[in-house]
Amino acid sequence: VTAKLLEEMPPIINTEVNEKVRLHCECLVLSDETLHDVCQTLNTELNRGLAKETNAEATIKCFPTFVQELPNGKESGRFLALDLGGTNFRVLLIELGEGKFAMDSKIYAVPHDIMVGHGTELFDHIAACMASFINERQLNDELLPLGFTFSFPCAQEGLTKARLARWTKGFKCAGVEGNDVVAMLKDAIARRQDVRIKICAVLNDTTGTLMSCAWKNHNCMIGLIVGTGTNACYMEKLEKVELWDGATDGPQQVIINTEWGAFGDNGCLDDIRVYCDHNIDKESINPGRQLFEKMISGMYMGEIARQVLVKLVDEGLIFENQNCDALKEKGQFFTKYISEIESDKPGDFSNCLSVLEDLGILDATPEDCASVRYVCEVVSRRAANLAGAGVAVLLNRIAQKKVTVAVDGSVYRFHPFFHDMMVEIIKRLVKPGIEFDLMLSEDGSGRGAALVAAVANRSAMERQQ
Ligand code: BGC
Ligand code: MG
Repeated sequence: VTAKLLEEMPPIINTEVNEKVRLHCECLVLSDETLHDVCQTLNTELNRGLAKETNAEATIKCFPTFVQELPNGKESGRFLALDLGGTNFRVLLIELGEGKFAMDSKIYAVPHDIMVGHGTELFDHIAACMASFINERQLNDELLPLGFTFSFPCAQEGLTKARLARWTKGFKCAGVEGNDVVAMLKDAIARRQDVRIKICAVLNDTTGTLMSCAWKNHNCMIGLIVGTGTNACYMEKLEKVELWDGATDGPQQVIINTEWGAFGDNGCLDDIRVYCDHNIDKESINPGRQLFEKMISGMYMGEIARQVLVKLVDEGLIFENQNCDALKEKGQFFTKYISEIESDKPGDFSNCLSVLEDLGILDATPEDCASVRYVCEVVSRRAANLAGAGVAVLLNRIAQKKVTVAVDGSVYRFHPFFHDMMVEIIKRLVKPGIEFDLMLSEDGSGRGAALVAAVANRSAMERQQ
């Protein structure tokens, strides 16, 4: 069924690929039937995360975020935001007015030795970047409210308390897992003594993405990231959240940070994981963890494609008599290459040829190029299908007539067909009668952080009155 569907959908899947290459890649093509099974398993795992009895052993933790209200568009004020955990670390200054929004931001590097060093150094670095941002803008005299977008799995104990469950995406700082990252940030700020900050909220990037979109679009109930990592959050009824220990007299709903990247860590995806998935996992900084994420997100997608290409070289199916040394080096086939190669018009291989040139492969034949493109297509389609299956599960759980899904992340943003591929598969997996759209949510980590801080302020003030 799938092969036929793929053929009906040119130009995304190139049909004129060498038959042996196509056969080799078949293990990466997921049928609708398989994706249906994935949906069912994911739904079961989400239930296990939400239920009191099973949460401790569940792989998908379904952390309540303590964000229970969506913005109404009237939030206002000046906020700082920190965004850690994506492609870049950023400090942002956000100004919200009724329906208006302005932003000033700066990107700072997080050197690799800090990513894998000690936690206090990481937080000292963050505080130093923030202090320099504040000094440059002469904001030292203002007590600015801050939203901290910290995009790692955290068990939240309140809007300003989040214990890191475990690092993901290449971070591995000692002394942070199990600790409250807000307290660690406060300590780092206190060590400096040159900035005044009021931390109002800590949030995941998925929550920020949802909030940022919900500011204008009131049907928005799901936030999705397909970037360096992958994850989704959604608005759940409080009665379903058995571990909820916050207030029960407030809104009867709360955003759940699913942390679906860990889906499969108990072996439940082993039937669809293939040799490249195993290799990538083995060579990663967090073996056995984030197995769903490793099949989908930008940190791994290029490497999946590279592993397949190397296999094809070893089997003599591509790049005959070409120097493939660079290709054989781990990490040398960047995820952005996939987007570039698939952006070539059908039959044109200019981007493909320039990627290959980067890799020192100078005399690729048109057939080689077709194979390379096919590998990219299969890998990105698998990722889109899995992420789409995840969204379909959340849509089916929410079971409302019309839901907007807020999406962000480098893969979703830059891949030419990722959005379209996701829409296609979600349509096929969602229950009849549910309408949805996927909306790019700009700057969830900045605007979203400000909105969470603002909504928290608003609610606190309303309660006081
Ligand atoms: C993290 C999530 C995050 C996602 C996208 C994952 O590795 O565990 O918390 O939302 O990446 O950034
Ligand atoms: Mg981000």
